Amino acid sequence: MKMTNSAIIPIRKPPKGGETVNHRLLVQGGFVRQLMAGVYIYLPLGLRVLDKIRQVIRAEMNTIGGQEILMPLLHPAKNWKTTGGWDNIDVLFKLKSRTGKDFALGQSHEEIVTPLAKELIRSYRDLPLALYQIHWKFRDELRSKSGLLRGREFEMKDLYSFHASQRDFEKFYKEVKNAYLKAFKKVELEAKVTEASGGGFSEKISYEFMVTTDAGEDDILYCDACEFCINLEIAKVKAGSTCPKCTQGKLNKAKAAEVGNIFDLGQKYVKDFGLEYRDEQGKAHYPIMGCYGWGTTRTMAVLVEKFHDDKGIIWPKSVSPYHVHLIDINQGQQGELIYNRLQNENIEVLWDDRSKAAGVKFADADLIGIPVRLIVSEKTKTNVEWKRRMETTSEIIDISSSIDRIKQLYNQL
Ligand code: ATP
Ligand code: MG
Repeated sequence: MKMTNSAIIPIRKPPKGGETVNHRLLVQGGFVRQLMAGVYIYLPLGLRVLDKIRQVIRAEMNTIGGQEILMPLLHPAKNWKTTGGWDNIDVLFKLKSRTGKDFALGQSHEEIVTPLAKELIRSYRDLPLALYQIHWKFRDELRSKSGLLRGREFEMKDLYSFHASQRDFEKFYKEVKNAYLKAFKKVELEAKVTEASGGGFSEKISYEFMVTTDAGEDDILYCDACEFCINLEIAKVKAGSTCPKCTQGKLNKAKAAEVGNIFDLGQKYVKDFGLEYRDEQGKAHYPIMGCYGWGTTRTMAVLVEKFHDDKGIIWPKSVSPYHVHLIDINQGQQGELIYNRLQNENIEVLWDDRSKAAGVKFADADLIGIPVRLIVSEKTKTNVEWKRRMETTSEIIDISSSIDRIKQLYNQL
């Protein structure tokens, strides 16, 4: 991608209302623009990052047998009235058509996926069934001042599963938990698995995947010796006390952002919609249902909160918008030659071919945060200058070696 005549335009001035690091840096780097509080436009760079996050999660969902679908965002009120959500869910956006009919904007999709599964599931042979989508949600959130951390329109991966038995559900639940941990590792985030109550869904225990960050809205207590972690909201233990699990470590308090969660929905929704399956004897039963959310746009925010310095973002390589940022200071033929060579090698390259001062290009590259930078200047002659975003030193190497290094770096993905 050439930067000249593109919609990749980093800006120096911090945006108005950019109270959190992710909001400020994502706007300055040219990833997103705010339309209004909690609603964002994704520019080409932002969409590339979001796509990579989606892809990491999608791959794990497919591996455990999830089937991707796409459900509507505009819902008939009837579905929400069936479950009680129409009156009980305060964040639900409701609208009326010109003929006076009531509709809701999807704030979650249990109300749509359950009647769909009722069409698909007939007998025990059709179970388990796991459907997911990566799609937008609308919620009338009161606090949407934390950039992409809390949107009124945001994207989520939501997986729903249906099982013949509690045992089968629990087996799948563990698989999802492991799939989540794999995906977290891939995007270089350390998730703490936190026990929490099932919120509005059920009285059962659920798990939240928390990433510690001062921008987060949750308080957690975590053990410094084992993996025990609990949401402070419901905790019976206190900061500083001995870990109830390993009885060795101490509990530390931290601010965290909930990036994902998994719930045992029991039979609430299947009962509401009359979803039954027949067993081998032809007897009808309600299946057990689980739901598994992951905020993709919130992940983008958390990544920025975790990986930045005072100059801009430093993307983990699995989600970087491009593999390489090629900075051409001379705007001579050498830049184009290297650009074409990298593209031929299937390396994703952002080429700063603009007629701007070197200082401006470097500052913009720092804001954008691509992990590898190749600089072409008078001093590099037929070679290139190799620099990592998080390092201050650089070295001059030949083009073939730079290609080898890039491939090595990204092949580990
Ligand atoms: P929170 O407690 O932060 O409001 P939630 O419990 O309402 O989250 P779910 O409804 O279970 O979250 O949604 C699943 C995931 O979607 C969350 O773990 C989070 O990553 C993401 N998410 C939820 N609400 C928002 C929002 N307003 N903006 C961005 N992401 C969100
Ligand atoms: Mg919420």
